[in-house]
Amino acid sequence: MSNFTWQRAVVKVGSALIAPDGLHVSAKYLLPLARFITESRAAGKEVIVVSSGSIAAGRGRVTINHPASIAEKQAMAAIGQMQMMANWQRFFDCPCAQILVTADDLRDRTRYVNIKNTLRELLKHEALPIVNENDTVAVAELKVGDNDNLGAYTALVAQADTLIMCSDIDGLYTADPRKDASATLIPVVDSITPDIYALAGGAGTSMGTGGMRTKIEAADKCTHSGIQTLIVNGRDGKVFDALLKGQCPGTLFTARQSSQTARSLWLTHTLKTRGVIDIDAGARRAITDRGASLLPSGVTGISGKFVAGDAVELHCDGKALAKGLALYDAKDLAQIKGQKSNQIRHILGYDYGEVIVHRDDLVLLP
Ligand code: GLU
Repeated sequence: MSNFTWQRAVVKVGSALIAPDGLHVSAKYLLPLARFITESRAAGKEVIVVSSGSIAAGRGRVTINHPASIAEKQAMAAIGQMQMMANWQRFFDCPCAQILVTADDLRDRTRYVNIKNTLRELLKHEALPIVNENDTVAVAELKVGDNDNLGAYTALVAQADTLIMCSDIDGLYTADPRKDASATLIPVVDSITPDIYALAGGAGTSMGTGGMRTKIEAADKCTHSGIQTLIVNGRDGKVFDALLKGQCPGTLFTARQSSQTARSLWLTHTLKTRGVIDIDAGARRAITDRGASLLPSGVTGISGKFVAGDAVELHCDGKALAKGLALYDAKDLAQIKGQKSNQIRHILGYDYGEVIVHRDDLVLLP
């Protein structure tokens, strides 16, 4: 078994664990998983759950004798989502928080920022965020479509260092273990090549949307962004004992670089700069010497028509100093520049928090 360390993980839980009979929610497989989450949190780690199973959990309540139509599946999801959340809450003393997203929400910069801020706030308040696709509003092309890829997007938004996909298979095999007795589990994958995709052929679950292919896609997205990815069998309680010891009993896809490096590269090189925020010497020192966030009091000028979520450069005395994601639109910043954070609400009538660019979203330019 390979070892791994982590600090913030997205734990993706498949329908086969939530609703093993494909009709109702069940607690059958969740106790060891819940204990893993509780003990990890007690050890100071942060966990976000991506839970499938709303459709499977609601299926038993929408009686039909033909293949379900889209509206019928959406009705199942609406009923099942509620059951699924209630089922999760039974295992935790901390509040479980429901987050439902569609592909569109992840594409829209402002909504993306809102999802990110909400997750940050929930973790700060020690709630357990539980994410699923908003199946009742999204169909086909509006969907991420499967929760493996949704798990990857969630790990990216949440700036997690690890994605753990809990399914009903032990991990990635050299061949389909149901058809080939000589198939062996691959403990570590350092590079996701076309050969690895070719292995994704069969092994999957009949219940959820995803199979091995979507798991490899998710691992591919994550490992490129510095997020290590695990596939483990969530039906086996011993798996969680191993995970608690920092051992991966399934397949570990190692990250190609640290998540911080990947993030800095993304911020510095991939994101187009949409505007400039001029800051004073005090803010410059706070950012460069103390790694602080930018507050409105340090802002002296704004140029460009950026919106919340856009990348901006921070300039001091005409020199580009840092690049980061703005949490306010340029037009709002023009009103709150130079002001104390506690005045933001008074001036704008609302606030997204006290910082203009959060330290997590900031890189110093060379
Ligand atoms: N969002 C779907 C559900 O809750 C699951 C999709 C998936 O399992 O990949 O039923």
